[in-house]
Amino acid sequence: MGSIKKIGILTSGGDSPGMNAAIRAIVRTSIYYGIEPYGIRRGYQGMIEGDIFKMETTDVANIIQTGGTILKTARSKEFMTVEGRAKAYEQLRKLGIDALILIGGDGTLRGATAFFKEHTIPAIGLPGTIDKDLEGTDFTIGFDTAVNTAVTAIDKIRETADAHDRLFIVEVMGRDAGYIALNSGIACGAEDILIPEVENDIEAVLARIAYDERRKKTVHVIVVAEGSGKIGTARLHEAIVGRFPALDTRVCILGHIQRGGPATFADRVLASRLGYAAVLALLEGRTQVMVGTLNDNIAYTPFENVGKLNTPISEDKLKMIRVLSA
Ligand code: ATP
Repeated sequence: MGSIKKIGILTSGGDSPGMNAAIRAIVRTSIYYGIEPYGIRRGYQGMIEGDIFKMETTDVANIIQTGGTILKTARSKEFMTVEGRAKAYEQLRKLGIDALILIGGDGTLRGATAFFKEHTIPAIGLPGTIDKDLEGTDFTIGFDTAVNTAVTAIDKIRETADAHDRLFIVEVMGRDAGYIALNSGIACGAEDILIPEVENDIEAVLARIAYDERRKKTVHVIVVAEGSGKIGTARLHEAIVGRFPALDTRVCILGHIQRGGPATFADRVLASRLGYAAVLALLEGRTQVMVGTLNDNIAYTPFENVGKLNTPISEDKLKMIRVLSA
């Protein structure tokens, strides 16, 4: 597709560490192949408002390691409307931008699907979300960093929990997906892990605490995904304090700390590979696909097939958690 002269790049939805490494790879690969890259600030909202600037190689110097996104990100209600998307298209047309690369989660790709039904312009998506909840890729940009941040924090909490013989409920991010909770919980040897994908029975959780009490296990760390359905952090805390008043039970909500910080090597490498592959994909004439990795190979999935990851958590993994925390 030698006809592409100018591409627009945006980050949208929640930020995730590694987005900057992806922007760097897209800008540098574009320039290498003679395409002018344009940064679109604040996601779809910036596209509607024409907050767009030409990018040079130097704009992406020294950002491969940083969290956040130099293009900033936003959620845009206006882009959810036909009128908003028409305004956004007009801004691209005015500048002669003839292709787009979008970095974001499933919402961003849903937005892209709506946009491209109405306005045809080649577009490639990159999976940028700490939640790792997308079909079509083994990993998403930001997940590895977020899990490592959670692991570092939970390790610290376990030390203070041990010093005081406390029970800690640690809430990590993941409204609809428990991958951060599951993986940080396994890596930190959590006594229990509650995730939205599994129906949690509060009595079973309390029974496991009682069992640990009988065995004189004095430290208890429960990792809870923020979206753990019926139970949730507050209800769990209340139930534990009600049933075990003698236990010193504390809650720690890790919150936005999981989004910040330098990207891990895994996220930097993934973002660099996907950014580079996205530009090559446009040059090969691909469009309306998300570029990801499957079994470590670059893979392309049409936007409409990306959707939320629906793979059930393996029974084997759940059994392993019980065995290793026993
Ligand atoms: P994260 O996984 O971090 O939440 P996300 O990309 O899923 O990231 P969303 O807020 O769901 O984040 O989506 C980003 C933006 O995409 C929305 O603010 C909106 O502008 C646009 N968008 C989402 N869904 C649609 C849709 N159905 N039609 C048009 N635009 C949409």
